[in-house]
Amino acid sequence: MNDNAKQLKISLLYWGGRNIKIKTTLLENAYNFLNNSINFYHLATHEVYPQEYKRYWMFSIVDIVQAMELIFKEVLRRENEIFLYENIDNPKHTVSITKALHRIKNIINLELKVQDERIINQAIEIRNNIIHYEIELDINELFQIYMSIFSFLKSFHYRFLKTDLHDYIEEEFWEEEEELLLEKYNRNLLLHDEADSSKDYLLEVAESQLYMYYEIGDVEYKRIKYGEEESAFKSEFCGDCAIKKGYYHVFGCDLEVCPKCNGQAITCGCHDIRDFLV
Ligand SMILES: [Zn+2]
Ligand SMILES: [Zn+2]
Repeated sequence: MNDNAKQLKISLLYWGGRNIKIKTTLLENAYNFLNNSINFYHLATHEVYPQEYKRYWMFSIVDIVQAMELIFKEVLRRENEIFLYENIDNPKHTVSITKALHRIKNIINLELKVQDERIINQAIEIRNNIIHYEIELDINELFQIYMSIFSFLKSFHYRFLKTDLHDYIEEEFWEEEEELLLEKYNRNLLLHDEADSSKDYLLEVAESQLYMYYEIGDVEYKRIKYGEEESAFKSEFCGDCAIKKGYYHVFGCDLEVCPKCNGQAITCGCHDIRDFLV
């Protein structure tokens, strides 16, 4: 499949009598929807705006689900272009998000946490309801769903697209990105009381939970969480990074074990984690 065929052609509106065509890739589209979504999230949640702006929640959910759908499709496309189509014998209509998710689970063997899958399905349902019906939205519930979908997308992006989704978020929305991560990975649940509580550290704690695999050679190794080591540590919190049992060590922690060689992850040399040690 050549590069042109890999691009979606979109015919835009007639404008000034000319038919303007733009070409855009699945991923570019996904990032556009994501940035739009965060913009709506900002309008719906920031205290400076009037109460009626809460209605923008609708668009933020619709657009983040759209971004998720396109990212799923890009991952399927990389596996094999034919997986993008509903009927592989008659490649005409592309798959729905639900089918894309189903294929990702079965073909690419993505293990989805039950909780993530529940939230994704809830978000899809809300998106469908927003489009097709008048519905009443519970803002607190929307916030929980939005935060979870956003974190899921960051994590999914690390694993399957090998880069940080942050690189595609416009700078004006970095504050919202941080807010969503810090809310999702609440320090009181994850860290020892006396741990460093600077914002930078808390963001590293959050990012460390989203980065779940090391790729060594061409093989993926699931990172070893604190407490999962063969000679498990006894205390409730890691003596170096202060993370709670059952969570991933913070990048650069002395006590993280390499999933390939069982040595010390920061020094064994199996993989390059320098990117995360800034
Ligand atoms: Zn640690
Ligand atoms: Zn190693």
